[in-house]
Amino acid sequence: MSAATICPPSIEPDLPPGAVGRLTIDLDALAGNWRQLTAAAGPGVTVGAVVKADGYGLGLAPVALSLAAAGCRWFFVALLEEGEALARAFAGRWPEARIGVFSGPLPGTLERFLAGPSLVPVLNDLDQVEAWRMRGGGRPAILHLDTGMARLGLPPEEALALAADPARRAGLALAAVMSHLACADEPAHPHNALQLARFERLSAGFPAAPRSLAASSGFFLGPGYRFDLVRAGAALYGLNPTPGAPNPMRQVVGVQARILQVRAIDRGSPVGYGAAFTTDRPRLVATIGLGYADGLPRNAGNRARCHVGPMEAPIIGRISMDLATLDVSAIAPERVRPGRLVELIGPHHDADALAAECGTIGHDILTGLGPRLHRVYRGGAPC
Ligand SMILES: *Cc1c(COP(=O)(O)O)cnc(C)c1O
Repeated sequence: MSAATICPPSIEPDLPPGAVGRLTIDLDALAGNWRQLTAAAGPGVTVGAVVKADGYGLGLAPVALSLAAAGCRWFFVALLEEGEALARAFAGRWPEARIGVFSGPLPGTLERFLAGPSLVPVLNDLDQVEAWRMRGGGRPAILHLDTGMARLGLPPEEALALAADPARRAGLALAAVMSHLACADEPAHPHNALQLARFERLSAGFPAAPRSLAASSGFFLGPGYRFDLVRAGAALYGLNPTPGAPNPMRQVVGVQARILQVRAIDRGSPVGYGAAFTTDRPRLVATIGLGYADGLPRNAGNRARCHVGPMEAPIIGRISMDLATLDVSAIAPERVRPGRLVELIGPHHDADALAAECGTIGHDILTGLGPRLHRVYRGGAPC
C-alpha cells in the first residue's frame, strides 16, 4: 500500500450544529478485516468485497477505495448503476480491478456493460448466457449456478445441459462460476453440505473457470467452502459471520444520537405514540433525535437499548420518524443532559445486538442507516 494514496486521519469529534445523529466508519478496521480474511484463507484464495447497496450503507466510494488501497481487486455490486458508480470512483486507478454485477445484463444494458472495461456481468439464465456469448465481444462473465436457493442462477438441469453442449458455450469466457449458500450462518444445517456437493458437481462442467461459493459466513464453514474467490460483505463491515460464536471481525460502525430533551415523569405517565409504554414508577426520560427514518427500526420500540458509556438506557415507547425515547433513570444526570450523545451502535452494543433486539440481521440495520446521519470516516480515508 502506498502512503500517497492515503489521506491523513479525518477525525471530526463533534457533530455540526443542527445534526442529531452521527455515523462513524472506521476505514482502518474495514481494511483490516479484508486483510484478516485474506491471511486466513492463505495463498490461492482471492477475497473479493461485496459493496452493493452503497457499501452496505457506509458509502460506496470511501469503502471501496479503502479496500482497493489495501489490495482488494474483486468487487461485487447488485446493480449496473452501482458498478458504473464504482468504476467512476476508481477513476482509472487499479485498472486491473474487476466489478461483478449480480443482477447481470438485463435487457437493454449490454452496451453499458461493454462501455465499462472493468464490469463483469453475472449471467443468471440461459438467455443471458446466449446474449453475452453472441454480443459480449468475448469479454468474460460470471456464470451463476443455483445449487438450492431458488433465487437467481441456472437450475442444475440447465447447468448440466450447458456444460454438455460445447456449441452453446463457444466463445463464452468465464471469469468465474459462482453459487450462493442459503444457510451458511447455521454451520450445522444439512443444506450447506448439499449445496457444496451440488456446486462441486455442477462446476466440474466448466473446469477452466475459477469457482466462487462462499460469502462471509460460508468462508467460516471452512477451507472446503472457499474455492478460488470469496464474496465477502458483512464480515468486512464488522458484522459477525459466525452467529452464536464470538465475532472474529473488528468493529467498523458506530452510531451516536444527540439528546434533545430530558424530562422527569411521574408514575403512570404514557411515553410516545399509542401510549405504548406507561411508567410504573417515576422515571427520567431522554428524547434522542433519531427515528425510523434514520434506520432505527420501528420495532426497536420497547425492545432495544442505547448506551451511555457502559450504562444501559432502554428504549421505551414507540420509535417515531425522527425521535426515540430512552429511560435514563439509572444514569448520572450530568451524562444525559441535552446535547450529549448516546450510543446506539458501538463498543457496548454492536449492530448485531441491535439487529437481534429488532428481530432482524445486521445487514438490514447497516443498509437502513439513513442520509440524515452525519458521516464521519476515520482512518485511512483514500484521497
Ligand atoms: C450480498 C451477497 C454476498 C455477500 O454476503 P455477506 O453475507 O454480506 O457476506 C455474496 N454473494 C451474493 C450473491 C450476495 O448477494
